[in-house]
Order: sequence, then structure tokens, then C-alpha cells
Amino acid sequence: MIRVLACTNPDGNWTAVTLELLGDAVVLAQRLATTVGAWVLTTPGRSPSLDELARHGCHAVWRLRSERIAAWSPESIAAALAMTMTTDCRILLLPGGARGEEVAALLAELVDGEWIADVLTLAATRSGAIEITAAHPGGKLARVHRPANDQPVVITIRPGVAEARRNDRPTSLEIHDIDVDLSHVPELTRVEQLLPADPRSVDIVHAQRIVAGGRGVGTFEGMRLIDRFAEALSASPAASRMAVDLGWAPSHRQVGQTGRTVRPDLYVACGISGASHHLAGMRQSKHIVAINPDRSAPVHQIAHLSLFGDLHDLIPAIESALKRRLPG
Ligand SMILES: Cc1cc2nc3c(=O)[nH]c(=O)nc-3n(C[C@H](O)[C@H](O)[C@H](O)COP(=O)(O)OP(=O)(O)OC[C@H]3O[C@@H](n4cnc5c(N)ncnc54)[C@H](O)[C@@H]3O)c2cc1C
Repeated sequence: MIRVLACTNPDGNWTAVTLELLGDAVVLAQRLATTVGAWVLTTPGRSPSLDELARHGCHAVWRLRSERIAAWSPESIAAALAMTMTTDCRILLLPGGARGEEVAALLAELVDGEWIADVLTLAATRSGAIEITAAHPGGKLARVHRPANDQPVVITIRPGVAEARRNDRPTSLEIHDIDVDLSHVPELTRVEQLLPADPRSVDIVHAQRIVAGGRGVGTFEGMRLIDRFAEALSASPAASRMAVDLGWAPSHRQVGQTGRTVRPDLYVACGISGASHHLAGMRQSKHIVAINPDRSAPVHQIAHLSLFGDLHDLIPAIESALKRRLPG
């Protein structure tokens, strides 16, 4: 069985990445002639629909209850997952990102398995071996892993790369309710408070608004104009690969095929031509605004609003209009 850690948003719905993990798990399970199960951490006040997991191809759910899980400590979660693994369970899929990776590292240690991070694709060969493609640190290379057959493998998948596959007809779901006793697990950290993320430091994969700059910003200083514009819109700054390669923005802010895949409500592309490699990482954004004087730039073909002009004129003009409408 392939086991997925199903996570919820603060609003009580399944996270997009949970449904994406299930999408990849179901395809892999079909190739390996096995099934997909999920761990669900029961937390106070949140009860998302298990039916939705069944509609995404899940056959069994392990619903875990514990005081400690409610506090969302990575040590407790990893211990609870390790304690409720069944012997047929070898492939463990967790969401990528800081929180999932913290749990994954601890879980791999507990189950004596291997952890593969920042995974882009999962596949199975004809002989039944699993092939896992992961991004190599730095993002310019990918590496293919073929884990040993007898060892559990913990996989954290990059959010946004897998495809959620919803069926109208849910699979029949086996539900296991388990009270997990974590009293013997040393608790190294405890989450005391959850604070809203600062858009400047949030992982752009989770950003609701993004302002991205490309080569058209002209200089390193030009990219600071993008940072200020992002701040004015309470958005996260991002960049094209060209801007990253020129040293104007850090690589973890790169959007595109070899960067991050983002789906914000608002994506403002400034001085970006819209090469297919860039569009691959942002075309699913809800509202796309392009600022680029070149009417033939491909970015305009997917933009919902195109502003044909120089970003050095348009951005300050938009900022002053915002200040007039939203004083203070
Ligand atoms: C294997 C591979 C993977 C890749 N992965 C990625 C990836 O993950 N992400 C990515 O972004 N790219 C990626 N690329 C590179 C991609 O193909 C493009 O080269 C890159 O996206 C171009 O970046 P850009 O749009 O910033 O620059 P350009 O293509 O040079 O476009 C700059 C744009 O700025 C406009 N402009 C100029 N002056 C102004 C101004 N004053 N105001 C407003 N607009 C202005 C121009 O009209 C132009 O359209 C990859 C390439 C390869 C081969």
C-alpha cells in the first residue's frame, strides 16, 4: 500500500498538495497493483470530508487521535505515523515544504527508511521498480532515484507539480480510528502560536499574491522596485530564471519549470516575456497581469490584463493610485 499524509488548511479543507499527492499515489498504485491509504490527523474543530479523499482514489484512512497531535509537533506526528504503519506499507508520501520535510526526516529515521526530498515525479518501471525524480539542490539538475525494494521510502513531493485527479464516484473507504499513545515520545518542540506569514518570506508556492520581475527590470536596483511593488500589494516577490541567473533575485523565488510552480490569486509579471518554461510555473494563477511594452510577448496571450508600457513608469503610477484609494 502507498500511504499519504492528508493535511488540512486552517479553513478545514484538504490542502491542494494533499489532493495532488493522492493523484500521484493513485497512478503509481495502479502500476504497482496496490492501493492507496491516508493518515488523517484529527485536530480540534476540523473535520474535513473523508468522502473527498475517497473521490481522489483513497481506499483506507487511518484517523489518528492524540492530544499531542493537536499541538502539531513534528516529533509527535512522525511517531504517530511510524506507530500506525502496516507491514504492507513501503511508500510514504508527505507534502513538500518546511513542515512536511521536518516530519519526513524524523519518520524516515523511525522506520529505518530513506527520505527523498523535493520530488517532481513518481513512476514505475515494467519490472515494478519505482523511479523517483527529484530536483537537485540549486534547481538546475534533476536526479533519478531507484530505491531498494525492501526498504520504506519517505517521499516529500514539491507542492504544485503533481495533478489532483477527482472522480465523481468515490472508492469505498475503510476507516480505522486509532487513539495514539504518545506519552513515551520526547517532545522536543511545541507549537505555541500560529502567526500569519509575512509575504516577503513566505514560500512563494503558498503565496496568495505574487509580483514577479524578469530581465525587463533592467538591473539589480530595478528588482528592488519589484520588491517595493510587492510590498504595496501585500504580495510575495518572485522572479524569472533570467533574473535569478543575473543575480537579481534568490533561486528559491524563481517561478517556472526548473523553479517553483505557483497558483496565486494574483500574479503580476513585470518585464517577463513569458517563455514556455516560465509559463509552466504560473499559468494556473487565477488572475494574471502582464506589464510589458512588447505586444508580441507570449505572456500577453495568457494575461487577463495586459499593460503595454515601461514598468518604470507604470509601477510608480499604480502605487500612487493605490495610495490615493487606500490612504495610510
Ligand atoms: C531547460 C530550461 C528550463 C528553464 N526553466 C525556467 C524557469 O523555471 N523559469 C523561467 O523563468 N525561465 C526558465 N527558463 C528560461 C526561459 O526559457 C527564458 O529564457 C526566461 O524565462 C526569460 O526570462 P525573462 O522573461 O525575464 O527575460 P526575457 O525573455 O529577456 O524577457 C524580458 C522581457 O522584458 C520586457 N521588457 C524590457 N524592458 C521592459 C520595461 N522597461 N518594462 C517592462 N517590460 C520590459 C521585454 O519586452 C521582454 O519581453 C528555462 C530554460 C530552459 C532551457
